[in-house]
Amino acid sequence: MLQMKLCGDLVLREKCEPVSDITSDVLNIMDEMVQMMSGQNGVGLAAPQVGITKRFLVMMDPDTNVVYRMINPKIISKSENTCVMEEGCLSVLGADGLPVYANVKRPESVEVEWTDETGKKLQAKMSGMPARIVQHETDHLDGILFIDYLSGAKREMVMRKVNRKH
Ligand SMILES: [Zn+2]
Repeated sequence: MLQMKLCGDLVLREKCEPVSDITSDVLNIMDEMVQMMSGQNGVGLAAPQVGITKRFLVMMDPDTNVVYRMINPKIISKSENTCVMEEGCLSVLGADGLPVYANVKRPESVEVEWTDETGKKLQAKMSGMPARIVQHETDHLDGILFIDYLSGAKREMVMRKVNRKH
């Protein structure tokens, strides 16, 4: 049974290692991550959020309900256009145990390449919610949290709500 790692846990700050073999272990963990994600009404979950410092993630396109299992995902290009959207994270919870939300500015669309669960190399251009989710989740693989994009008073306001472990 995997456990959700929360803000303050140093595993969330590690740079994850590429996956060299798609083992049944990796596949099973991704399946369990999909269950955790949907069980908590999330749209994305990255390996370090369950304590695994490997480059894989799961995400769901909320418009189509398509679930992606991405191994070694990489954002290969970003649009110059940016947009502001509200983000939350299953690892960044308030005292009520629910995600804390904040507006974050990021590129509006991105091109992503990844290996799927069958070992096939895929590439896609994403915009809207999927682009937002894939950027948030690939950030996790580099130890970056969405709260890192907030600054000054806004960051302080959000961080006051976050129930940190220390
Ligand atoms: Zn997150």
